[in-house]
Amino acid sequence: MRVAVVGAGPKGLYAVEELLARAPRAVVDVWDSRPPGTGAAYATDQPVWLRLNVTSAIVDGFDAWRLARGEAAPLDPFPPRALLGVYLAERWASLFERHAGLSHVARAAGTVEASGAAWAVDGAAYDEVLLATGHATDSPDGLAAGWSGPQALVPSVYPVSGLDAVPAGAVVASRGAALTFIDLALALTEGRGGRFTGEPWAPGYMASGDEPGSLRPVARRGRFMAVKPQPGSAIASAVSGAVRERGLAAIRAAGDASVALAVVPATARNLLAGLGQDPAGVEDVFEGAPTHADAVDALRASLAVATDRARPDAGWAVGAAWRELYPALVERFSLGGGLAFEPFAEAASRLEGVAFGPPPVNAAKLLALVEAGVVDASSLATDTIDGSGHHGPVAVDVVVDAVLPGPGVVTGAVTLPGRLVEAGLLVQAPGRRGVAHTADATCLSPDGHPLPGLAVVGRPTEDATVGNDTLSRSLHPARDAWALRVAARFEEER
Ligand SMILES: Cc1cc2nc3c(=O)[nH]c(=O)nc-3n(C[C@H](O)[C@H](O)[C@H](O)COP(=O)(O)OP(=O)(O)OC[C@H]3O[C@@H](n4cnc5c(N)ncnc54)[C@H](O)[C@@H]3O)c2cc1C
Repeated sequence: MRVAVVGAGPKGLYAVEELLARAPRAVVDVWDSRPPGTGAAYATDQPVWLRLNVTSAIVDGFDAWRLARGEAAPLDPFPPRALLGVYLAERWASLFERHAGLSHVARAAGTVEASGAAWAVDGAAYDEVLLATGHATDSPDGLAAGWSGPQALVPSVYPVSGLDAVPAGAVVASRGAALTFIDLALALTEGRGGRFTGEPWAPGYMASGDEPGSLRPVARRGRFMAVKPQPGSAIASAVSGAVRERGLAAIRAAGDASVALAVVPATARNLLAGLGQDPAGVEDVFEGAPTHADAVDALRASLAVATDRARPDAGWAVGAAWRELYPALVERFSLGGGLAFEPFAEAASRLEGVAFGPPPVNAAKLLALVEAGVVDASSLATDTIDGSGHHGPVAVDVVVDAVLPGPGVVTGAVTLPGRLVEAGLLVQAPGRRGVAHTADATCLSPDGHPLPGLAVVGRPTEDATVGNDTLSRSLHPARDAWALRVAARFEEER
């Protein structure tokens, strides 16, 4: 029996580890034009100021590995993404060493076709194929598709070497003000020799002279993301386990979507009440109201809470509740979870910026750049950028697209799952962006039948399975169910 795993990013790695732990002699080809472990975000040669946006503790074994190779405790909770790339590459290398049947096919897979009772990946026959293709690098929704603006366009922030095209002194507008925007801001400052000095949560910025004249983020929502709590701070451990467990249980027991979603503000109020804080404002934040009229004030206030320099507020509580309850939300709003998806989709889009924002270190740098006048957030909500260019009162030289291609099926021949949907082999789950699949990741055909031996995990399944943009190994059981099934088949057929 032969297995193909298409994509050697984190999710391909986790899948192969689970499979080989159960069937060590399985014959597995891992297809990826990138070196195994690199994925969309973890190239080992990227600059160190491109950091993880979640605490490193989310990746099993990573912190123990860092300590074992001599990194001093306490560990930086938001280390360089390049370092994670080294760790993931070592995990792949250890698999290749220990399993003679595992090989790397160092190219992108162009097609998957039915071939008798099996599958052909670019003509090579496999009994089992797992698509773990992750992020699209390109999208028909990106600015590059049909750009007619008068400004020069840089179509992507990654790899950051592409930003060399931005001249020093240029006025730059960014489509997007989220995590990718912060990477952009750092690339054009720290990446050009600028330095952050002084207090960690209120640094100053020493310019190199190679920065843009100004960097102007533009965001539909008109605000920055709220800051994640600093691990080790009092606020990071302020979530009561009992409140969390009550919330998780209430969502798991909820009979409809509105009951399940109402648990989030209720939990936020309980968190604040438990800390002796006034729960006023929770409903407004949950419904999407900004915490402050000014985006920079909101960022500053959120950083202060995240670093124990201000009291917990409604913004923190709603973000914490959404993060803590996320495992139950994923269970209930993914396909098979029994709850209507639309209300969740609306809440998720409102709350992503409240719950999954930058680490304090990057928020503090962003504020320093605002204070130094390099980042100008004054028209965050009022300027617009579309295919015909940047629109606003200030003349802009360069536009950078700092919005990543969306999750789910990306069509226009850009991704393998997208091409398979266009070819009529796979289908988007009704009302959801991702590929329809069963609980063990087996793909469904357009007429709703499982396609034995063809499976999919991660970003191409978004909404059918909720919340794939994560390094967490435990949030989504479909991958392990796939590994169990394939390992059992391998043992049976031996
Ligand atoms: C810039 C950035 C920063 C991020 N930071 C974080 C973070 O700090 N924390 C976090 O939890 N998540 C983060 N994410 C979210 C990200 O989704 C996950 O961390 C993780 O990368 C998902 O793993 P994956 O294997 O599903 O996808 P990917 O990492 O996208 O890997 C997919 C792999 O499949 C390969 N591939 C694609 N198509 C083919 C094909 N046709 N043939 C062969 N191979 C193919 C690609 O080359 C790639 O190596 C970040 C994402 C980005 C883009």
